[in-house]
Amino acid sequence: MSLTAHDCAALDAADPLHATRAQFCLDDAEVYLDGNSLGVLPVATAPRLAEAAQAEWGRGLIRSWNTAGWIDQPQRVGNKIARLVGAAGGTLIAADSTSINLYKVLSAAALAQSTEPGRRVILSERANFPTDLYIAESVARQHGLTLVLLDSETIEAALASHLNANVAIVMLTHVNYRTGRMQDMAAVTRRVQAVGALMVWDLAHSAGAVPVDLTTADADFAVGCGYKYLNGGPGAPAFAWVNPRHAALPQPLSGWMGHAAPFAFDTAYAPAPGIDRYLCGTPSVLALAALECGVDTALSAEAHGGMQAIRAKSLALTSLFMQLMQARCATFDFTCVTPDNPAERGSHVSYTTTLDGYAIMQALIARGVIGDFRAPDILRFGFTPLYTRYIDVWRAVDALAAVMTQHEWREARFQQRAAVT
Ligand SMILES: *Cc1c(COP(=O)(O)O)cnc(C)c1O
Repeated sequence: MSLTAHDCAALDAADPLHATRAQFCLDDAEVYLDGNSLGVLPVATAPRLAEAAQAEWGRGLIRSWNTAGWIDQPQRVGNKIARLVGAAGGTLIAADSTSINLYKVLSAAALAQSTEPGRRVILSERANFPTDLYIAESVARQHGLTLVLLDSETIEAALASHLNANVAIVMLTHVNYRTGRMQDMAAVTRRVQAVGALMVWDLAHSAGAVPVDLTTADADFAVGCGYKYLNGGPGAPAFAWVNPRHAALPQPLSGWMGHAAPFAFDTAYAPAPGIDRYLCGTPSVLALAALECGVDTALSAEAHGGMQAIRAKSLALTSLFMQLMQARCATFDFTCVTPDNPAERGSHVSYTTTLDGYAIMQALIARGVIGDFRAPDILRFGFTPLYTRYIDVWRAVDALAAVMTQHEWREARFQQRAAVT
């Protein structure tokens, strides 16, 4: 027996995170299931941006670097994100994009391993997000390493045959962007380090969505994204974390903001101690102001059970979605590729189809249910416990069933591909 709309409304009424939804600008006529790609605008963000522009920039002008705390933003926002991913204060910085931060930390890791000429391999996963692989390719080329990609669905099995003394770095995304499969961070990190390799985690689909404890896992490096579950806005700054034992390593983008004394204007580069050296150029002040509002929404859950409450609701939402899909859409051509086992599941659920998945998603969006399509054949639905309700899950499956039963997706207007899917 599957749950009814009435049951879902009752779950919402009893939800400990019920109140956090009011912090977001959401249209009740729509169901937004794409917070894993672009988080929703927090209510606090537009007024904060107006203040940053009008008072801080407009009136404060150059003085605001000191008086409005602009210069400390990367550290301040970084320390807030740190609380969500189990990082100590002063070990995580908000800056640049995920791609750029990955370049910095992979390069630092490659340099750390350069004293061991036998270690020639960077291991990753073929199913990783392409930018991660493109960046790893460059770093491998620059350091004379080889990028080897694992094919197996279960990383655990693939690692067993590929982890050896030739491996310098293993770089994995904690929650896979397509399948939503989550790795056991502590176990994988232990295995990687046991052969003397360094472990780099990409937390793009984890930060703010699932509990992460970088300190307990004792990983080596991590990066993550600001515009997904952290609700920082389109193109928000990303973050980089470095285990304090690697603090003395240099990163290659030696810009002046990562200098020990930027305003000494020395001719020679001298890296700042600690995580500050992972800055490069001038911080993106307005974007960091928006990111801080987004991170604050995730931190506000601390009053309602924090990341444990977010995780419990995330699993309840994804399980409900999978159950309702089984009950209402099993006769259509959808195959769930997200693990059934909750321990292996992040906060999104994906289905492959041999039909035109792009058109199906467009038809669903026309009904006000927003997920996304990932080539070649994946329909992806993200669940953000801070604002996604149980009734939204019910409405999403109901709309998809209608799109399929009434063949709406076959309409020509849904086949036109836009630049961003
Ligand atoms: C979203 C995402 C990115 C995004 O990188 P940008 O530099 O912000 O474009 C990178 N890696 C993974 C795994 C992602 O999910």
